[in-house]
Amino acid sequence: DESLDDPLLQGLNPPQREAVLALDGPVLMLAGAGTGKTAALTTRLAHIVRSRRAWPSEILCVTFTNKAAREMKERVGQLVGPAVEGMPWLGTFHSIAAKLLRRHAELVGLQSNYTIIDTDDQLRVLKQLIQAEGLDEKRWPARQLAQCIDRWKNRGLNPQDLDAGESEAYANGQGQKFYRLYQDRLKALNACDFGDLLLHMLNVLRTNREVLEQYQQRFKYIMVDEYQDTNQVQYLWLRLLAQGHKNICVVGDDDQSIYSWRGAEVANILRFEKDFPGAKVIRLEQNYRSTPDILAAASGLIGANSERLGKTLWTQRNGGDKVRVIGVWDGPEEARRIGEEAERLEREGASLAQVAILVRAQFQTREFEDRFIAIGLPYKIVGGFRFYERAEIRDALAYLRLITQPSDDLAFERIYNTPKRGLGDKTLEKIHRHARARAVPLSLAAFEITETDELPARARNTLYALMRDVGRWREAAKTLSPAELARTVLEESGYTTALQNEKSAESAGRLENLAELARAMEEYETLGDFLEHVSLVMDNDANDSAEKLTIMTIHAAKGLEFDNVFLPGWEEGVFPSQRALDEGGLSALEEERRLAYVAITRARRRCTIVHAANRRIYGQWTSSIPSRFIAELPAAHVDQETTLSGGASLWRAQWSEASDPFADVARNQPSRIVTRGPGWQRAAARDYDPAPRRIAESTRSAASFAAKPRGDIALGARVFHEKFGYGTVTSQEGNKLEIEFETAGAKRVIDSFVKPAP
Ligand code: ATP
Ligand code: MG
Repeated sequence: DESLDDPLLQGLNPPQREAVLALDGPVLMLAGAGTGKTAALTTRLAHIVRSRRAWPSEILCVTFTNKAAREMKERVGQLVGPAVEGMPWLGTFHSIAAKLLRRHAELVGLQSNYTIIDTDDQLRVLKQLIQAEGLDEKRWPARQLAQCIDRWKNRGLNPQDLDAGESEAYANGQGQKFYRLYQDRLKALNACDFGDLLLHMLNVLRTNREVLEQYQQRFKYIMVDEYQDTNQVQYLWLRLLAQGHKNICVVGDDDQSIYSWRGAEVANILRFEKDFPGAKVIRLEQNYRSTPDILAAASGLIGANSERLGKTLWTQRNGGDKVRVIGVWDGPEEARRIGEEAERLEREGASLAQVAILVRAQFQTREFEDRFIAIGLPYKIVGGFRFYERAEIRDALAYLRLITQPSDDLAFERIYNTPKRGLGDKTLEKIHRHARARAVPLSLAAFEITETDELPARARNTLYALMRDVGRWREAAKTLSPAELARTVLEESGYTTALQNEKSAESAGRLENLAELARAMEEYETLGDFLEHVSLVMDNDANDSAEKLTIMTIHAAKGLEFDNVFLPGWEEGVFPSQRALDEGGLSALEEERRLAYVAITRARRRCTIVHAANRRIYGQWTSSIPSRFIAELPAAHVDQETTLSGGASLWRAQWSEASDPFADVARNQPSRIVTRGPGWQRAAARDYDPAPRRIAESTRSAASFAAKPRGDIALGARVFHEKFGYGTVTSQEGNKLEIEFETAGAKRVIDSFVKPAP
């Protein structure tokens, strides 16, 4: 039997081995940070493949990041050799759902080359709907509607599933109506948003027995990391799929549940044993990641939460620095200080790849960027905000989207007058009208309209040139590599030139970003592959393995570890966030504290917390108070340091009040740190802004559209045109007419713009 002398298992402790070997039936691995949950899951996967219990294609494995998926794949590859074809069902919920949905898109009314739209596009569509329905967008913001819809989707609710109470959440009970309109619009666009990926797949499985049974049979093993952060729709989806072989193994830590604002429900962990009776519950207690002081500081902090399952954590390691807390004057000094420390670490031989700055909120990153650019410290910002969210990147991607999918109306609207080419709203309005009348995409409508006299000559020529270029690029896409194509498009569209002419510091940065985009594309063989990649790179992905310091949000850092971690901005109003403070409830604050716990437990060797006495937030200087979480750290495991004189007394005073139940254990070994709390109460889902999500689009084939003539206008008919007045049809080709107008003379127009004259 595959027992103890198996080298695969030798690095693991007994409960980890148990988790690897318990292959039949449901398994729940519940354990604190750094106890080797992910390591055990990865080994389990390798073990299943190597022992031939299942083919790689028969294993569904959900990881929190694409990076984690890549690492698992590599590991399995090392252990079982190149005979293993890729693992198609190893990835994030979104990437797996997107892949499944491409196979079954038609079951939910989409085509398999559907586009995945991002938050920006989502808001644009919602705004249009709100306006079309004559609602006041100021009173009922699209953003609010977007949040409602996301929340419903996270809970697995379709429009028809909403009750009147739910519908109240938007515009006096019109929530359901707008949700339905939005879904219909997306279908018409052959698009879906992020929330749809899972919801559509859930719908497919719920309503198609054969499809469900096919996957229930296929997935012999199901594994899920970071299970505490699954939301309802993910849970329902997993539960359906797992009903086949019932070999489902989930891994989680209630103390690291930090996505309740995105609908995650830690109750899913508690429910597991009920849903899967006889589940084996495995607890891991030994932490392999952090030094005793870091572990004790984190454990002390999370001990202040009441909504906990409670767990035991210990470490065999000893030595190491205490957690450092540094007080500085302001934001720029914070950045300067951390920059210096990072350089010092580098001089002492540390790799910058092992240095991370973990922030609570995105706005915090800019200060570091500015500083590090100034001193030439290589850094990368990991997370969706930066790169693919930037305007110039989104513009470039819109061009590429339109090239791959002519029906991508959102992309068309984005590039229509970007860079500025003198095409105005009136022209767009006409294109829209024509597209609606003929039920064709905007890009085709734009093309057709240029073959007529509907537009003033200048607009017509400009639009014609643009559409001709798009057509040419579409041809070029067949032979050029994605990167070459991107360069060509940016050059020929005038986009690059427009930026060059700006000659600002900002435009220089934008040009660099575009160059970087082309570089990123070099790794892809087809444009479709690249766009798919862009759509699926989650917020929390690190692609780049070069030696750079990492700046990322704590949310995105979940599951990762670094030797040296800097935690800036530990001030009331930043961390805990103002939003959590305003809410006033216990659960919001407890989630912030779990986030702080996640932050500290990312550190292997050194953890440095920084707070500034003054901070400019959204352009306003404010003086700030050190975070309450600093006061909650057990003092015996902390070194404090400040460059301030006055401010120091404030937090020293707070500190002396903090008790330290861990003082006696941290330096002994093995140290044992025990924290307990009453059971969980579910943290209420809150609805603040989800982290902006990546763009997403992907398509393969270019659809073609036929323009049929309308039946009610024949050669010789007398017609009326809004602009040109009355006239007689002198020729007809498809939907294009030539008309001899009584006053305007001969014109070419599109038949949707004319009415039969009485
Ligand atoms: P998190 O809760 O943060 O996701 P985790 O429980 O998933 O943490 P891992 O990331 O799997 O923990 O492991 C933490 C560290 O401990 C890793 O560096 C891993 O290689 C190491 N590790 C895991 N198990 C063992 C073991 N049995 N012996 C030695 N090191 C181990
Ligand atoms: Mg993990």
